[in-house]
Amino acid sequence: MKKNNSSSRFDDSIRRIAKLGHYTKPEKVQGAIKLDSNENFALDRDFVAGIAAEAARQVDLREYPLDQLDELYSQLAKYAGVSVKCVAAGSGSDQIIELLLSTLGSRRATVFSPTFSYFINRCELHGIKVDKVPLDQDFTLDKKEFVRSARKSDLIYICSPNNPTGNQIGRQEAIDIIDSLEDKLVLVDEAYVDFADYSLSTYATKRDNIIVLRTLSKAFGLAGARVGYMVANEKFVRTFRSTIQSPYPISTLSLAIASSVLARADHIRQTVNAVRNERGRVLAKLAKVDSIKVFPSDANFLFIEAGKNYQRISKVLKSSGVVVKELGSIAGHRGCMRVTIGTREMNDKFLQCIEEGS
Ligand code: PMP
Repeated sequence: MKKNNSSSRFDDSIRRIAKLGHYTKPEKVQGAIKLDSNENFALDRDFVAGIAAEAARQVDLREYPLDQLDELYSQLAKYAGVSVKCVAAGSGSDQIIELLLSTLGSRRATVFSPTFSYFINRCELHGIKVDKVPLDQDFTLDKKEFVRSARKSDLIYICSPNNPTGNQIGRQEAIDIIDSLEDKLVLVDEAYVDFADYSLSTYATKRDNIIVLRTLSKAFGLAGARVGYMVANEKFVRTFRSTIQSPYPISTLSLAIASSVLARADHIRQTVNAVRNERGRVLAKLAKVDSIKVFPSDANFLFIEAGKNYQRISKVLKSSGVVVKELGSIAGHRGCMRVTIGTREMNDKFLQCIEEGS
């Protein structure tokens, strides 16, 4: 066997990859009030559990999923208000992002910053250079600066409503950006759009250069089922379904659960409305606390700058078993956290901690 004392290409790749930004799995704290991952706990656990139990009884896991994906496409299309030919699905929108980055040959991406770190990490994994255009202090976008940077890229990522800031870019502003970049692919990540006021889904079906990403992980309370979807023009969706996506991307069980929850979309809309109301209530309460700053949100979470009280609040939250996403200093703001809007009881517990820590 040939002795190999120089490092192999494999070693080099692993060394390069090990240095990249990576995903840190949230810690599971037993019995915690979990407000760190923007899941939907306003949706009753028994509602989802009942649907899952029924789905488990119906499916035959010995078979590959065949017609179930088509059934899901019809329901997603109906929910998003687009043609069934403009919808494709994946194992979470994470997987769809990964597939697009690994197949479309993009070399340079423009994002605004801060934004969804998974997207940036994933670009870097694929050797795609990422240009970050900072958002303003109030999280608005300097459109001119963004477009100037985007012209040098071949892939543009717009997370709207944005994670972690929570705000949705104005509809006309988004359309102006996309229209001025007709030769570039624009990915609009609408993971939280169900909590906002408009979606670019219909618009996406009529353009060649935009793909809208959506998910059942947030509003639909199915983060554990791993079902994400895209809305785009017919031609791209055909190619995605037939060539880019793997043949059986979603398990039969998750497909059955997703279909069943989509059939009860009215109930989901009610829950979403409850979350939106709670978002308003929590925001109004936080706005009254002098030492912290809270930002308006179109999503199911709030971005809070706790400033000098950050450590104290963080300590109180931990000792009370309330888990939030701690962001530290970010985007020119000090001591920041992102907190999911949960049930009224969960939110009250969080508000109590803020009061105690401020
Ligand atoms: N996009 C954004 C902006 C997100 O915050 C998330 C969830 N963290 C995702 C996509 C991924 O969602 P999914 O569960 O569908 O993979």
